[in-house]
Amino acid sequence: MTEQRSEIAQLGEFGLIDRISRKFGLRNKSSITGIGDDTAVIDGGETGVLLSTDMLLEGIHFDLAYTPLQHLGYKAVAANVSDIAAMNGKPEQIIVGLGLSNRFSVEAVETLYEGIRAACENYGVDLVGGDTTSSASGLVISISIIGRARKEKITYRSGAKANDIICVTGDLGAAFMGLQVLEREKHVFLSNPEMQPDLEKYQYLVGRQLKPDARMDIIHELTELDLVPTSMIDVSDGLASEVLHLSRHSHLGMKLFEDKIPLDNMTYDTALEFKLDPIVIALNGGEDYELLFTIRPADYEKIKKHPDIHFIGHTQENVGENVMISKQGTVVPLRAQGWDHFKSVGVIGDR
Ligand code: ADP
Ligand code: MG
Repeated sequence: MTEQRSEIAQLGEFGLIDRISRKFGLRNKSSITGIGDDTAVIDGGETGVLLSTDMLLEGIHFDLAYTPLQHLGYKAVAANVSDIAAMNGKPEQIIVGLGLSNRFSVEAVETLYEGIRAACENYGVDLVGGDTTSSASGLVISISIIGRARKEKITYRSGAKANDIICVTGDLGAAFMGLQVLEREKHVFLSNPEMQPDLEKYQYLVGRQLKPDARMDIIHELTELDLVPTSMIDVSDGLASEVLHLSRHSHLGMKLFEDKIPLDNMTYDTALEFKLDPIVIALNGGEDYELLFTIRPADYEKIKKHPDIHFIGHTQENVGENVMISKQGTVVPLRAQGWDHFKSVGVIGDR
């Protein structure tokens, strides 16, 4: 009898996680929420303790040819903070696991930690531990984070109700286009080292790729306005993928309007320059680290004038009917494509 072998690429990252999670129940009363949201939620008395982890691998998530170590350290923390923000919580402590090859000097590690320190300062987080080991396959950074939120404030992916308003912060697709620019300039440089990279013009996009910020500013503002979203997720894999997560967890449908989806002009122009459709980039480009959330219609008044929150659609009762109304008024089914290029090279991992 031959043993069965299933390809991970076929199942996809989320299929694989589902398959793992089905075999694990929760046995401790303190484990309030396990696998499936942006963070786990653990009973901490008055508050919920939010716990999450994120791993970045050289060659998969970053290329040291164009990623300054300082930015990388900052980004690794920001990506974790973003998951705490997505639960409507406040980040408090991180633990940093490092895998280092002998290519790295003490100074290089110090530079990486400069970025980690800057992020800790910016987000008010304490570095409280970690682990250091050698690595045979380049740099590995694995950060775990703990945050807190008052229990009634914790915002899950599952809380949206029909006719809630779908909101997204900032603009989308810029980090993805920044990556395309960096990759292009790297190839130009490799084929002709005399050529200086032409990055000036694309500064905003490259910045969005190399030094993203978690939207804790929005979380603080929502708190001040006494507005608790009904559901929330951070946009790390692309808007379409995240909208589908909210839909699946909340058991309803989502309707987006193409003309409401926020795109920076530079993202738009650069997508066209690369012969890509800007809206496809906004829907499927990863690493925006913006927040996608739903609010009760009654809360709209509180944020309708906010310059950086965009109202991109609404939820609807029909479970799983997830669509975008195009600028021409056609109904386009929403699909997540964020993972395809990973699948095609046979690796998985979140960006
Ligand atoms: P995010 O993009 O917000 O970091 P992920 O897509 O990485 O979230 O993960 C989705 C959910 O699956 C999270 O609750 C996460 O904790 C869980 N998860 C991811 N990988 C694993 C794993 N290898 N084992 C158990 N749970 C996992
Ligand atoms: Mg997340």
